[in-house]
Amino acid sequence: MALGSKKRKPSQRGQAPARLCACCRLSLPKSDLIRWVSSGDGQVVPDLTGRLPGRGAYLHPHPECLAKLQTSLSKSLKMSVSTTPVQGIELLMSAARHRVELLLGQARRRSLLVWGADAVSEAWQDKRASLILVAADAAAAAKIGAVRQAVPLGCVKVWGTKAQFGAIFGRPEVGVVAVVDETLAKGLFDAIALALLGRGAEFVSRSPWAAEEKFGSQEVESSEN
Ligand SMILES: [Zn+2]
Repeated sequence: MALGSKKRKPSQRGQAPARLCACCRLSLPKSDLIRWVSSGDGQVVPDLTGRLPGRGAYLHPHPECLAKLQTSLSKSLKMSVSTTPVQGIELLMSAARHRVELLLGQARRRSLLVWGADAVSEAWQDKRASLILVAADAAAAAKIGAVRQAVPLGCVKVWGTKAQFGAIFGRPEVGVVAVVDETLAKGLFDAIALALLGRGAEFVSRSPWAAEEKFGSQEVESSEN
């Protein structure tokens, strides 16, 4: 694995450009906000890559701000936005699901995923695993030591099914996967959080990578029982 270094790169949050949320007017790092662009006919679409052409406005994916998507974006984009908050959230979740698949595919091609209990545990012990993904139907994965340690650090996300993960690796079923690249892990973390927005999950704009000390040690209180 190319990422042999034990020391994780320091985060570059000092350089993150800030943008205003069109709704609550909070100034936040651009990466914590969703860019929305006009797609014609009064409709807007979320631009998760930040690369769609056209005038854009930023909204942070907090339920209260998304609930005012239509009025906020109408004002910022100087157009009459017809996309309703419900439609906007649907679009956002759908774009996020697509992005998760895309990032997982990229990660696989670049050999930045390891799978199965043994490989995931090893990657976690070596501090190479930035994020552990557990299939929703992989009940046994909750017993894996690495997963138990990673949960309280916020480094575990439940996503997809064993069959879906299996398809990535050409296996019938894979229950647990670790992402061994920090940038990709952060992208996946955010995309999964957005994809789950509509299920009552609140988007946590500050992923665990914001707190570097979490990786400084892997001391975990064993107060789970
Ligand atoms: Zn806001």
